[in-house]
Amino acid sequence: MKPVWLKICPEEPLVLGSLRPDAQFLASRTYIPGRLLRGAWAEWLQMQGVKNILGHVQRLRIGNFFPAVEEGELLYALPFPLTAMTCKHHPGFWSEFLKKHQGHGIVDTLIPHLAYHLLEQAGARMRAPFALTCAQCNGRMEPEEGFYGVYQYGRKIGFVQFRPRFHAQTKVALSRFRRASHFQMLYTVNALAPQAPAVMSKDGNKPVVFLGRAYGDPQAVEELRQALSHVAIGALHTRGYGRVKVEATTLPGWPGLKERVKTFNRLLVALWQDLKRLAANGGELPDQPDGLYFSVDLLAPGVFVNNGLPELVPELHINGKTLRPVWWATRPEMASGWSTAWGLPKPTNLAARMGSVYIYRWDGSLDELFPALQTLEAEGLGLRRDEGFGEVLVCHPFHQEVEER
Ligand SMILES: [Zn+2]
Repeated sequence: MKPVWLKICPEEPLVLGSLRPDAQFLASRTYIPGRLLRGAWAEWLQMQGVKNILGHVQRLRIGNFFPAVEEGELLYALPFPLTAMTCKHHPGFWSEFLKKHQGHGIVDTLIPHLAYHLLEQAGARMRAPFALTCAQCNGRMEPEEGFYGVYQYGRKIGFVQFRPRFHAQTKVALSRFRRASHFQMLYTVNALAPQAPAVMSKDGNKPVVFLGRAYGDPQAVEELRQALSHVAIGALHTRGYGRVKVEATTLPGWPGLKERVKTFNRLLVALWQDLKRLAANGGELPDQPDGLYFSVDLLAPGVFVNNGLPELVPELHINGKTLRPVWWATRPEMASGWSTAWGLPKPTNLAARMGSVYIYRWDGSLDELFPALQTLEAEGLGLRRDEGFGEVLVCHPFHQEVEER
């Protein structure tokens, strides 16, 4: 199944599956979970009197959609991996287009960490523990979260963090039965605005767009697109929130899978050689690590089970071999869900957070491995994949940013 890239352009503020809905406050996520799109599609089918709604929507696996400001040439948008770090005192990319947004840079620590770990395993006696400080001020680093977009402007490539703008409104809850306001039932909606401050021009606002992928037959993609031109997405979607337009798009600047795996390994060898010089016994160590390595990065929370028990670290089964990760960075969260179409809560599972990253070693050629990696991206990993859990990217391009961007 080849992925189809889609671009979602909001026309109204969005309330995207609040993390903790309660009676007084409704907040929005800043990305569009694929399952909200599926829910809206199911709702549209139900309104059309279609039977076997599940059979219809299961023809597509809809990934998550990540936000960016649309200005100039936007190449792609992604969540940061959990291994991204920035200067504690001057956070942010230094390659931002606007001076007011520039910080000391954001760097990915995965490949340096991995090189250090593999060197130790190969018997290196490192003279210093693994530590990272800001290249500009020597200050402490802290993890960076959220989403970023990569832009081309002439010959310059700029990295831009997504800075959401919210649109808050206090509403009076209406009684469902009497259409009258409930006694003391005011609540605040904090919706994601369809525009955000420009990232290249000095003033003004630009549209926010969301980029993501759907896997399945093109006819089903077209049906989804049509449905979303009739039904708004997210919470409160009948009350002035959640109208979107969906377009098929191409991302010529998106690095291909094979290229990402090759660059990942080239950088790993370079970092290995760099760090080897810090080992007391560097002369006794090989010139490069054994094996081929690749990362699996979660673009959505992942629900994994091993022997019936929930776990945060998934195994891969490739060409009859079981691979356990050699290194990982993950954090837990609870995966819950709500069926928009049926109004029923879904079961709650322990999940690994979006941005979690797992490194696997492959003892063979890239050509042998490649089809399995393609399938992994197309099908996802773990349980509840048809709800959008377990969407993965192999060798997230941000791992290449081993120097501050
Ligand atoms: Zn700094």
